Amino acid sequence: MDIVIHKLRGANMDIDLATPADDIAWQQDACPWNQAESTKIHRCAVKNVSLCPHFRGVEYLDTLLCSYPSSNKIVKPND
Ligand code: SF4
Repeated sequence: MDIVIHKLRGANMDIDLATPADDIAWQQDACPWNQAESTKIHRCAVKNVSLCPHFRGVEYLDTLLCSYPSSNKIVKPND
């Protein structure tokens, strides 16, 4: 049986890849923009505030899609 995936607008996410690995219990990649600038200020999605210009959503189950350094809208994810 096919599974229907709905795309629903209005998700108010709060996602970052800026938390130091020692502070979390799961494996997490680091934000490439933060790494390039040696900072922790860039966050993917800040609830009620903003989305990073490089944020391209989330892929099942918990993979963030990031277009850094491009901010073009059309992006082909790599593996
Ligand atoms: S979307 Fe990419 S560049 Fe933007 S904060 Fe997240 S990981 Fe960093």
